[in-house]
Amino acid sequence: MELVQLSKSAALRKEYMSHLPAWRRPIVGYMLSLPLVALFLVLSMLIEQLLRYAYFPGSLLILSVLLSAFIWGVGPALLSLLFCIFALDYFLIPPTWHLDLNTLKDALQLVPFAISGLVIAFITAQRERARLEALAAEYEAKNIADQLEESYLKLEESNEKLQEASQLKDRFLSIASHELKTPITTIRGQAQLLLRRLNKQRELTSEMEGVKKTLEKINEQTGRLTALIDELLDVSSIHAGKMELHKHSSNLVMLCRDIIDDQHLLSGRTITFTAAQPEIMMEIDSDRIGQVVVNLVGNALKYSPPPRPVEVSLNVRQQWAYLRVTDHGNGVPKEQQERIFETFYRAPGAEVSAKGLGLGLAICKEIVERHAGRIWCESQPDVGSTFCVELPLMLCKD
Ligand code: ADP
Repeated sequence: MELVQLSKSAALRKEYMSHLPAWRRPIVGYMLSLPLVALFLVLSMLIEQLLRYAYFPGSLLILSVLLSAFIWGVGPALLSLLFCIFALDYFLIPPTWHLDLNTLKDALQLVPFAISGLVIAFITAQRERARLEALAAEYEAKNIADQLEESYLKLEESNEKLQEASQLKDRFLSIASHELKTPITTIRGQAQLLLRRLNKQRELTSEMEGVKKTLEKINEQTGRLTALIDELLDVSSIHAGKMELHKHSSNLVMLCRDIIDDQHLLSGRTITFTAAQPEIMMEIDSDRIGQVVVNLVGNALKYSPPPRPVEVSLNVRQQWAYLRVTDHGNGVPKEQQERIFETFYRAPGAEVSAKGLGLGLAICKEIVERHAGRIWCESQPDVGSTFCVELPLMLCKD
């Protein structure tokens, strides 16, 4: 671990050096330290000659150490300090070649100078270390930024691929649904025509009764298929942003009442309807809002067993109209109450209780939101569910 650290800091130092101009490299400092000390020594002696009194022998020499440290770093500064100590000892403090108390006292005069030089070298070493640490942090940050950019590019690439795949899926759904819709509509039309003809007959042979039952099944199943295909077509037009609204002034109460009457006739189930006022005029796409009501009432019937009733109510509060569809079925657990509005989401167990693709509520949500409204589910498991739709009364035309 330490070895890795060492080689890292050596590499950093090398990198740092490579950015310095040639004259600031330490090798130049080592070579110039002796001439520099000599220069400052000569200057010191000159000043001594000129002033004759009151001078500090070490002040100019310490300047040479300072310069070396500032320009070339700690190594050349230490070498300069060594040369300075020799120079001071040799030229400025009279040399004596035998060790006695006086020589020792003279030598002691050099100690403050040596300490000052060492302090300069120490500060320089700290500065170099801080610079290297800053460089290491800069490289680390650059490294992380590079990695982040790389992962961002990868993410963007996979995002693009996902989007392409999703567009391909939507195109496939749209083409397949269109291609399926025409033959199914023809089959259904023919079955309904034959059924009408058979219904006109006063009496049917047992063979013809069998044919009639088969035709009724064909009618029912192709009806289901048409509904599923319509849902798929709606979802692909929502995804492609091509769902158009054709708004006009409509009475929401009448719209709901008509749908509920139809649903009652078709299912034979009890559906109660209450409206706070006889008329709620709104600027809406009545086909699409009708689709929402059909879906919610259809789900209420689908997910609650007969003979439990379904209750539909319409209210107006301030600037909002509220539609509530309540059933007494199994309900929707709290954690799924948001998810059921997602495309293709079906609550666990839904496959057992009723058939479907999990698209109806997603389409309802889109339609309601396109009318600047809100849809949500309030439910208690084993008690039942209420699906609420809130629509602004002052809808603007788009
Ligand atoms: P589908 O009914 O085709 O599955 P929907 O989008 O209409 O699709 O509904 C999504 C899911 O929400 C259903 O699979 C069902 O689990 C749940 N759900 C919808 N309405 C009700 C309801 N009235 N009671 C209980 N669960 C419901």
